[in-house]
Amino acid sequence: MERAILVHPSAFCWNPRCREYGRVDLGNIRRFGRTQAGTQRYQCRTCNGTFVETIGTVFYGRHHPQELIVECLALLAERNSLAAIHRVKGVKEETVVAWLRVAAQHVERIEAILLANYRLSRAQLDAMWTYVGHKGEKGGARRRTTAAASGAV
Ligand SMILES: [Zn+2]
Repeated sequence: MERAILVHPSAFCWNPRCREYGRVDLGNIRRFGRTQAGTQRYQCRTCNGTFVETIGTVFYGRHHPQELIVECLALLAERNSLAAIHRVKGVKEETVVAWLRVAAQHVERIEAILLANYRLSRAQLDAMWTYVGHKGEKGGARRRTTAAASGAV
């Protein structure tokens, strides 16, 4: 199975309105000083939007590395069962569901991370959210152009 390497949050633009949103390694991201707390800031040359290094750190403070969490969510989106994920990754089923609940509060970020790192379709992401009774949409405000553009299932 083809699988991209997990990228650093600074590898792509986080501005959903930017035409290079979520696209990795275009060279549009540059370092842009630091915050008062010393966190690295970045700027997108395309939209001039700035963001900080920790923007992707939804799971900060959890006991598992973020890579593992994102990987388990991607496996779930790829229609693997919770039992299969437990077998492969050694993570308890309820733990994965708990991560998904946290993820559901950060739908856009999580989807950006997953789409940037895994070959997932809109339908797969939507199916993943159904595990926690979340449709992956906030008030239906989100545009559904992704599926149309990629010709996804
Ligand atoms: Zn941008």
